Amino acid sequence: MKFQVMVAPNSGFCFGVRRAIEIASEAVASGEKVSSLGPLIHNPQVIERLRKAGLEPVEEIGAITGGKVIIRSHGVHPEIMERLLDTDIEVIDATCPLVKKAQQAAALLSSGGYTVVILGEPNHPEVKGLLGHAPAAMVVDANGDLPNLPRHARIGLLAQTTQYPADFRSVVEKLVKNDFEELRVFNTICNATVIRQKAAVELAGSVDIMFVLGGRNSANTNHLAEICRAAGVETHHLETADELDPACLQGYSRVGVTAGASTPEWLIDQLVKRLEELSGT
Ligand code: SF4
Repeated sequence: MKFQVMVAPNSGFCFGVRRAIEIASEAVASGEKVSSLGPLIHNPQVIERLRKAGLEPVEEIGAITGGKVIIRSHGVHPEIMERLLDTDIEVIDATCPLVKKAQQAAALLSSGGYTVVILGEPNHPEVKGLLGHAPAAMVVDANGDLPNLPRHARIGLLAQTTQYPADFRSVVEKLVKNDFEELRVFNTICNATVIRQKAAVELAGSVDIMFVLGGRNSANTNHLAEICRAAGVETHHLETADELDPACLQGYSRVGVTAGASTPEWLIDQLVKRLEELSGT
């Protein structure tokens, strides 16, 4: 087998995830008990490393038995923050500043009397947090029907930070077609997501096969895999280099690699090294 391996620019950790990992690493270095409310990021391999370093993910406030708790980059519902601040537990907020901006947009629209519409996945932790800032908001996906609202409604739209820009535009178009009297739009999609998706599509267009590396529970990694498939190239979503099946490389001369915003560089390096070994380069 002889093939060339190309890695999409900007693959792997985004600024918000890198920041959360740095905050967590600093917290565990103090030697105190440290928990995170939910897994710090959506990557099982990184979570396992952090667990060994002393960071324990817990699902509920009741499971925290003292020390410090880290709020992950997705942010939390304000009620959860209030409950934590009422305890003796030290709260370290690693919410990504861009998620905070989306939360502020949701709060502004909600307090301004807008009917808030959020493009996103209703069960994603970031969206659950956003709903805390706009409790009556409706969560929609780009392919579903928009809520049936009267023409005089004042609509305020925002998005989960990792949504597709094309989906966001399509929701805006649908809302415009509905002729609402007022439509206010906050484009809260994160640039890190846009850059990764653009680079992945470009690379997918010039290779025979794509490998998308990242947690199966990572929304942005799953989106990367979807857009590579939509670009018409054979695409495999892997969590680690061990999952690579060499048989799928037969007959191919150009291999592309991209990785989600929660995938560390060491996992990308392992996959590239494995591919280079197989190619004898
Ligand atoms: S993808 Fe964007 S919004 Fe989400 S954590 Fe990374 S930088 Fe922040």
